Amino acid sequence: MQSQTRAIVQESLNALMEDTNFLPDLTNGPREKAFSSLAAVLSTPNKIHKSFLRIVLERGEIVRIPAFRVQHNNALGPYKGGIRFHESVNEEEVINLAFLMTLKNSLHDVPFGGGKGGVIVNPREFTPKELNLISKKYVQYFADVIGPDKDIPAPDMGSGEREMDWMMAEYKNIKPGEPYRGSFTGKSVINGGSLGRREATGKGVYFTFRYMIHEFIQHNQEWLKKTNNVFAKTALDLYEKPLSIAVQGFGNVGSVTALEAYQCQKLQNKVIAVSDRNCTLFHQDGLDIPSLVQFTAKNNGDLPYTDEMLKESGVTAEILHRDEVLSIDCDVLMLAALEDQIHQSNKEQIKAKVIVEGANAPVTADADAYLNEKGTIIIPDILANAGGVIVSYFEWLQGRETQFYNEDEIYRKLFTKMEGTMATILPKFFGDPHSLRQNCYIHSVMKLSLILYKQGKLY
Ligand code: NAD
Repeated sequence: MQSQTRAIVQESLNALMEDTNFLPDLTNGPREKAFSSLAAVLSTPNKIHKSFLRIVLERGEIVRIPAFRVQHNNALGPYKGGIRFHESVNEEEVINLAFLMTLKNSLHDVPFGGGKGGVIVNPREFTPKELNLISKKYVQYFADVIGPDKDIPAPDMGSGEREMDWMMAEYKNIKPGEPYRGSFTGKSVINGGSLGRREATGKGVYFTFRYMIHEFIQHNQEWLKKTNNVFAKTALDLYEKPLSIAVQGFGNVGSVTALEAYQCQKLQNKVIAVSDRNCTLFHQDGLDIPSLVQFTAKNNGDLPYTDEMLKESGVTAEILHRDEVLSIDCDVLMLAALEDQIHQSNKEQIKAKVIVEGANAPVTADADAYLNEKGTIIIPDILANAGGVIVSYFEWLQGRETQFYNEDEIYRKLFTKMEGTMATILPKFFGDPHSLRQNCYIHSVMKLSLILYKQGKLY
């Protein structure tokens, strides 16, 4: 996975090196050296912090839980990235996720660098008291390297606002008298969190898709028809048509994305399938997403996966195998679960014409190349799922100013920021043969390279 990110960054650097308008002062040997330095700097993290958290379980036994904090790059500002609580998280994955955060923040002009944390636990196997201890120990072990102007963690899979509240409180204990509100984002509103943070990623995921397929086409239809670009043809084919949507994952990101799609007045959407760790639910005429959201809220986050549960939810659907969501006949597939979901063995079964990456790295390099070749539009993770970090940035700002925006202001600011990025990237994407992922990487790497050069980091 990390090699995939590295390879696209290298491709972007190669393209920039060929572009003589970029860093024109650098020519010949010095240019080659600078680009080789950039490859070295961007493809490796600045620091990897590791520890084993010593936890006394409620039953009296002591366990040592592996935990990481990776700080990839801080040229644009303090490191920023979530802490994943998952049984299969590992160092390589955390490095790659930190790398993606650097690229994502650069792409969207968020003044943060890239970081990420991981704790190897299945949170479902621990009591709230034990999870509280794990969260506090994480802060104790990494207190010297995190902080509002150093590295600002946030929630990721398996962690949420409860853990961020605990962590911020522990940080405040350890550093009395120092600013603490900006030490963690994704906190509860009462503890200085931002309104709209929980929904931000899912709303942003749906927004990127809607903006591309609706607003952008509305304003550029004639130009798109003339470009003779395979992706422009895919997008035009979907414009103003009724669209069927499938969503993989029904957690924080997936459930909000599905609800946005269900409620959208601008497009004629039907969410025909949603899935989670247990099953896929399918209904050709569209699923009742609000009832499913209500059901999961009362059932530990799980969708109904038995006939009795389905009856209790009041939703009409067929229960299918968990992975069937990927190959369902639909126009749009939104991925909001895990990494590596579309890969070598299932890439040929994908029928969707647009794939939106709510999760990080859900499509492998091999599948990505195959689908691009087919003209499938893939809205990549660093473009689509940045809503969380963008609103985290607003949360950090609000904590500094101790002035808080209302929900409408937050969403307006979020969509304005994402629209700005889309408006920069889409004309390039529909006008050249690169994939949308390559276009996003080139833009992001260009900005990082320029900043590293101007900061004198390439000597
Ligand atoms: P979450 O833990 O709230 O939800 C994950 C969902 O995926 C759950 O519904 C779970 O049942 C489901 N799932 C697990 N294994 C599955 C499988 N094999 N097949 C289908 N579904 C499966 O996590 P989340 O916060 O919604 O994050 C989802 C993804 O989005 C992750 O990749 C995360 O890194 C990424 N992401 C999240 C945020 C955020 O703000 N939460 C921001 C950016 C990216």
